[in-house]
Amino acid sequence: MKTHVRVAVIGGGVVGASVLYHLAKLGWSDVMLLERKELTAGSTWHAAAGFHALNADPHIAALQGYTIKLYKELQAEGLQDLGLHMTGGINMAGTPERWEWLKAAWALFKTMGMESELVGPEEVKKICPIADVSGIYGGLYDANEGHLDNYGATQAYARGARKRGAEIVLNNRVLELNPRPDGGWDVVSEQGTIRAEHVVNAGGLWAKQVGLMAGVDLPVTPMEHHYLITEEIPEVKALTKELPLAVDMEGFTYLRQEHQGVLLGIYETRPKHWNVEGAPWNYGTELIPEDIDRIAPELEIGFRRYPCLQNAGIKRWVNGAFTFTPDGNPLVGPVPGLKNYWVACGVMAGFSQGGGVGLSLAQWMIEGEPEADIYGMDVARYGDYASNRPYLKAKTGEFYARRFVLTYPNEQLPAGRPVKTSPVHDAMKAEGAQFGALYGLEFPLYFAPKGEDFRETPTLKRSNAFPIVAREVKATRNGVALLDTTAFSRYEVSGPGAEAWLDHLLACRIPGPGKARLAPMLSPSGRLTGDLTVFSWGGGLYWIMGSYYLQAWHMRWFRDHLPASGVALRDISDEVTGFSIAGPKSRDLLAAVTGADVSQAAFPFMTCREMDVGLCRAKVGRLTVTGELGYEFNVPASQQLALYHTLQEAGRAMGLVQIGYNTVNSLRMEKSFGVWSKEFTWAYTPGMSGLDRFIAFAKKDFIGRDAALKERDHAPAKHKLVTLEIAAEDADASAFEPVWLGERRIGFVTSGAYGHFVGKSLAMAYLDRDVAAPGSTVEVHIIGIRRKAKILPGPAFDPEGSRMRA
Ligand SMILES: Cc1cc2nc3c(=O)[nH]c(=O)nc-3n(C[C@H](O)[C@H](O)[C@H](O)COP(=O)(O)OP(=O)(O)OC[C@H]3O[C@@H](n4cnc5c(N)ncnc54)[C@H](O)[C@@H]3O)c2cc1C
Repeated sequence: MKTHVRVAVIGGGVVGASVLYHLAKLGWSDVMLLERKELTAGSTWHAAAGFHALNADPHIAALQGYTIKLYKELQAEGLQDLGLHMTGGINMAGTPERWEWLKAAWALFKTMGMESELVGPEEVKKICPIADVSGIYGGLYDANEGHLDNYGATQAYARGARKRGAEIVLNNRVLELNPRPDGGWDVVSEQGTIRAEHVVNAGGLWAKQVGLMAGVDLPVTPMEHHYLITEEIPEVKALTKELPLAVDMEGFTYLRQEHQGVLLGIYETRPKHWNVEGAPWNYGTELIPEDIDRIAPELEIGFRRYPCLQNAGIKRWVNGAFTFTPDGNPLVGPVPGLKNYWVACGVMAGFSQGGGVGLSLAQWMIEGEPEADIYGMDVARYGDYASNRPYLKAKTGEFYARRFVLTYPNEQLPAGRPVKTSPVHDAMKAEGAQFGALYGLEFPLYFAPKGEDFRETPTLKRSNAFPIVAREVKATRNGVALLDTTAFSRYEVSGPGAEAWLDHLLACRIPGPGKARLAPMLSPSGRLTGDLTVFSWGGGLYWIMGSYYLQAWHMRWFRDHLPASGVALRDISDEVTGFSIAGPKSRDLLAAVTGADVSQAAFPFMTCREMDVGLCRAKVGRLTVTGELGYEFNVPASQQLALYHTLQEAGRAMGLVQIGYNTVNSLRMEKSFGVWSKEFTWAYTPGMSGLDRFIAFAKKDFIGRDAALKERDHAPAKHKLVTLEIAAEDADASAFEPVWLGERRIGFVTSGAYGHFVGKSLAMAYLDRDVAAPGSTVEVHIIGIRRKAKILPGPAFDPEGSRMRA
């Protein structure tokens, strides 16, 4: 066993093995995997080992597609038989709503370059002859689904890694992780201590404990999961073709062939956690006793869907455990606040996702960033709040129970809420606020009529909140609106090196005292890492502002780029909050609550200053995300309620209306303002997104400068962000719908909303530049139906931007 390695991967399940394989494949051969027992000794050995590409997050779906492709390559490499059964897979729709959802998913798959097929009930029956298709509306068939041998898949990664120089040490539990002064780790194991530059926690069922060894409490927990394997079934034996991987979501089951019988797995609605603190260290390959009473309701549905099961003998019950995170997606990447400590854990579907997780993590470690936008599985999408045990149990339980339940984009799930509320939460609630939750924070979506027990209908189409949002949009454009800005993040930057550091960190020119500026942030390879706003309050005090839910993500990036001294950085998101007011009457409202001169001459667009507002001393910026004249107030959290009353009181005579973020979404779409996670992500560049117009290319030094210049001067982006007006009557685009020019797929939607003031269904989309001319007619898939759309020359509302500068 080596005593010095570049990377120590802890855990030899399918995920750890994939990480090791990808590290070695991408060129880091001085890597070691340490396994407590044998390879596959965690969840991996008893998985049903089915794989599929379908995932609600299209980026993750694409990585699942990569995993499946990789199996064929590994099989072809010939080091290990993977026992690959490419049977194809069918997802059945048992309700009209699910059928609609599958049609929408089919279109999203097209955007990801993945081919699947929509088939009617008769075809479903042909594909899966043992299914009773009564009540089935149709299915989504994907030829690239199937199952493989658990051990074979893990061994294939391991052998591929060994061939490329990696070392695997079995029967060697890691006992301690001790940080070294040089930023590396002393990995104390049963067989001795290894000095590693980096460690990767791929501890699966033990990931929680391997996290705690480094002082990090990861939001991950094991849960039980059942499947059964039948004896030989005559109807299966008689088949001429192997059964597909069949998922009956309304029935909560998945099924595949196992020899001449079947394997039936159940996602029950009454799930059970198992060793929330992680599996016991002496846990071997024993199974958890089956709990048939708990899964009986779902089992019964499964037996009705596949009637031949009713007479089949059950050869084996498997009740095993695997890990879940609050949203069911993996935890991948560098853990914020730690040096050289990486995770690849919380992987619920290791056989679908293991390849993509391994690839992304290896790219991140070796090249500094993963190629794909994997925010959906980035460990930094959570803060400490998510590791609270009751929260973790509530959210993972909710996720498990809803694994096969149709979830709509406008649905707000109830578990684990509220965790964080703004000081005005209750007051807003009394006014009818309906809340969403992100990063634990409750934020207003819109304000329903006061006193009504309003419930938004979950739907892919326009919901019953449509007229409410319409009213808020119109009130903003015609008068003045009030928005709680607790959902913004705020970072304070000060110290003698503050300006120089910001100048290096951000691609824009750093504003002088009393000014604010939009601030793109880039990675060294020239991709977007932030669409922030920087404020200079004077006296060397700066703020960076962004979205609340990205706090850990932003702070990890900032800290990674901080100089050794001279800059003080603080996340003040939970200390400072405020409101935004927007609309043509907002200056009148501000003037009514402050003694300061707030005339256009004294307080122009994109400036900022401190002033008294009612009883509060507020830091005020003249900007909003609505495209209207507007202001953002920032006060200590303890004063937000006072500020609320001040603005409400003064605003009453002016018809002040409270709005939420669904309304902001319609307003910003009318202005073609992109937002993070939609138009701007890690996968896109300044030239694609149009954020290049905020880059100060003349600056001598900032992160990503060379790449951004290269894109500008020599390698223009192939795609372009445009706004579409869509002929859609009942539904609006959401994200990732394909855009067509005839039969050519020319791009995809990033986000969509109804523009209530302009009266148009709008979307923003990345299109191939050669066909992105304004005025062209294209088509967009919305819920599986192609709709005509027009490329707009600019924003649908106030293209000159005169209103916000007024
Ligand atoms: C019943 C059941 C059915 C399933 N069906 C499917 C399916 O059909 N498709 C699918 O994709 N997924 C399925 N899964 C989930 C799948 O098993 C997991 O996603 C996958 O195995 C996770 O792999 P892993 O490598 O992250 O974790 P694990 O398999 O748990 O591996 C972790 C490894 O780390 C080692 N380890 C931990 N701590 C240490 C330490 N301190 N020192 C050294 N080694 C350590 C352990 O011994 C273990 O080998 C199923 C799981 C179960 C239980």
